[in-house]
Amino acid sequence: MYLSATDHRIPLSDGNSIPIIGLGTFSEPKLTSKGMCAASVKTAIDVGYRHFDGAYVYQNEHEVGEAIREKMAEGKVQREDIFYCGKLWTTYHEPEMVRPSLERTLRVLQLDYVDLYIIELPMAFKPGDDPYPKDENNKYIYHNTNLCDTWEVECHPYFTQEKLLKFCRQHDIVLVAYSPLGTSRNPFWVNVSSPPLLKDALLNSVGKKYNKTAAQVVLRFNIQRGVVVIPKSFNSARIKENFQIFDFSLTEEEMKDIEALNKNVRFVELLMWCDHPEYPFHEEY
Ligand code: NDP
Repeated sequence: MYLSATDHRIPLSDGNSIPIIGLGTFSEPKLTSKGMCAASVKTAIDVGYRHFDGAYVYQNEHEVGEAIREKMAEGKVQREDIFYCGKLWTTYHEPEMVRPSLERTLRVLQLDYVDLYIIELPMAFKPGDDPYPKDENNKYIYHNTNLCDTWEVECHPYFTQEKLLKFCRQHDIVLVAYSPLGTSRNPFWVNVSSPPLLKDALLNSVGKKYNKTAAQVVLRFNIQRGVVVIPKSFNSARIKENFQIFDFSLTEEEMKDIEALNKNVRFVELLMWCDHPEYPFHEEY
């Protein structure tokens, strides 16, 4: 598969296509200043990113829309150049809430359509506008739901997802890897006892050979095996760095060595919700 900075869409089985790298936009709202997300999306568009991964619950979807619209107004991109993925939050799983939630996302973005709309987590919470509903004992209030089959999967060299990837390839499904750099290690979401991916000795030594960073190596590893990556960065130097992955390639042996780093380490374990009847990570996939 030939991939370049200007031509890196990969086909989907329905005839559409998806850029193999996107900018992740989740950033802890309390730690992120106003305008940072919009500025980062604009930098990313200038650098060449055309895929943006966002969500209503990230509380910055309006900034993503604002940045895309500004770049469209400048004539830098057209709407069809952009691939936007939005997400249905857990408190809106009731079938009649899906469409209004999508419509709200469109209003917030001020765009006419999204390219992909996924179920953020396959665990429903009490329906309503409180994103993290709790009872008087400070326990999360769950809700019954049908488990949905639309699901993004964490994927990186410590969690290579060989079995899932094989299944997806057999069924013509493109896998999107969230947390491809091993997350921001926010202790609320992340199992921080797991080893930091970007400090890995092999990844750093492979990087040295190509004059690349460990981050660039892990992103290249995934795109080279056809997995879409959505690294998040709100730092302009790192937004650029993460996009500079089309000018080198890993040898077959390096791909194998990196694959062998797999430790089945899932950074986003969401253990605070592990008693939810639909908690997905008790199962092998
Ligand atoms: P990532 O693996 O993308 O890592 C992001 C962290 O790495 C940030 O702290 C960022 O800091 C830092 N970083 C970025 N580039 C570099 C670099 N080149 N070198 C060193 N550090 C770097 O983690 P995420 O968990 O954010 O995953 C990416 C995206 O996936 C999310 O933003 C979100 O859009 C999506 N996601 C979806 C989930 C779902 O349930 N559907 C779950 C989790 C994520 P800085 O910004 O300062 O550069």
